[in-house]
Amino acid sequence: MMVLLDGKKASAAVKEALQVQTQALTAAGKRAPHLAAILVGNNGASETYVASKVKNCEEVGFRSTLIRLESDVAESVLLEAIEKLNQDPEVDGILVQLPIPKHISEQKVIEAIHPAKDVDGFHPSSVGKLVQGLPTFIPATPYGIMLMLEHFDIETRGKHAVVIGRSNIVGRPMSILLSSNQKRGNCTVTICHSHTPNLKEICLQGDIIVAALGRPEFVKADMVKVGAVVIDVGITRVDDATAKKGFRIKGDVAFSEVAPKTSAITPVPGGVGLMTIAGLLKNTLQAYLQNQP
Ligand code: NAP
Repeated sequence: MMVLLDGKKASAAVKEALQVQTQALTAAGKRAPHLAAILVGNNGASETYVASKVKNCEEVGFRSTLIRLESDVAESVLLEAIEKLNQDPEVDGILVQLPIPKHISEQKVIEAIHPAKDVDGFHPSSVGKLVQGLPTFIPATPYGIMLMLEHFDIETRGKHAVVIGRSNIVGRPMSILLSSNQKRGNCTVTICHSHTPNLKEICLQGDIIVAALGRPEFVKADMVKVGAVVIDVGITRVDDATAKKGFRIKGDVAFSEVAPKTSAITPVPGGVGLMTIAGLLKNTLQAYLQNQP
């Protein structure tokens, strides 16, 4: 029997717990946790993500602030905006929606966010702690996947996990979490990328496959062993004139042919994307609790 790893169900459970915690805080006269997001320019997908983050903050009772900057904004202006949020005692979490325009250094922006407010977990200080197994902000997408595994009680110990993709925001931190000595870790992890020649053979060995490469329907049925757990991180907009918006969202896994072989699989949409927001909200509450005087 294949289990659909439903991100709606799992994220609703996380959000309900956050809402209860937030209500308790505000009932005790405390202010609500506050997330500040900066959006540079008007990339369609980024607009959607940020709007969804803001909406989800509202749903759990958090405060949110959205700062919009023009796509030609000077790097110094963006860095100043971040510094202002760093200094603001009423802002708990800060994120800059990526990607940002090419004339701005992504690395400088990531390092400008104070580690205590780094709810995306991209600061080298947060990444270093993650690698060392210390408490930190876990990047939202890998964190969301871990919450998903927890919600559906997927055993990871001793399993061979194959992670496709080594980006700083998904593949790399995911490989670290799955290999770490913790409840939903203790996997043997293989991390694959565009220089991996025998990807299919490696995938066929995976008890758990995390596909995070950004190539629509890349993972086919003949790459997946029977009973595997498949986590599809991919989100690609594929043109489709019959769709209302003119595009459809595709994952990195050919769902209809792969799903029947699996023991559990995430749908796209309705899977990891929703859990990513849940991870971000949890990080924001954590930042709030840690930053209270
Ligand atoms: P990325 O920065 O473009 O990284 C893609 C990774 O996949 C790279 O490491 C790349 O290898 C590897 N790769 C590309 N083509 C490959 C191939 N043919 N075979 C093996 N490896 C290959 O992408 P990302 O930011 O990690 O995002 C990956 C996907 O997840 C995208 O579709 C993105 O939209 C989606 N995403 C979803 C969420 C969510 O909330 N669900 C969040 C973030 C991202 P090299 O390093 O060698 O180039």
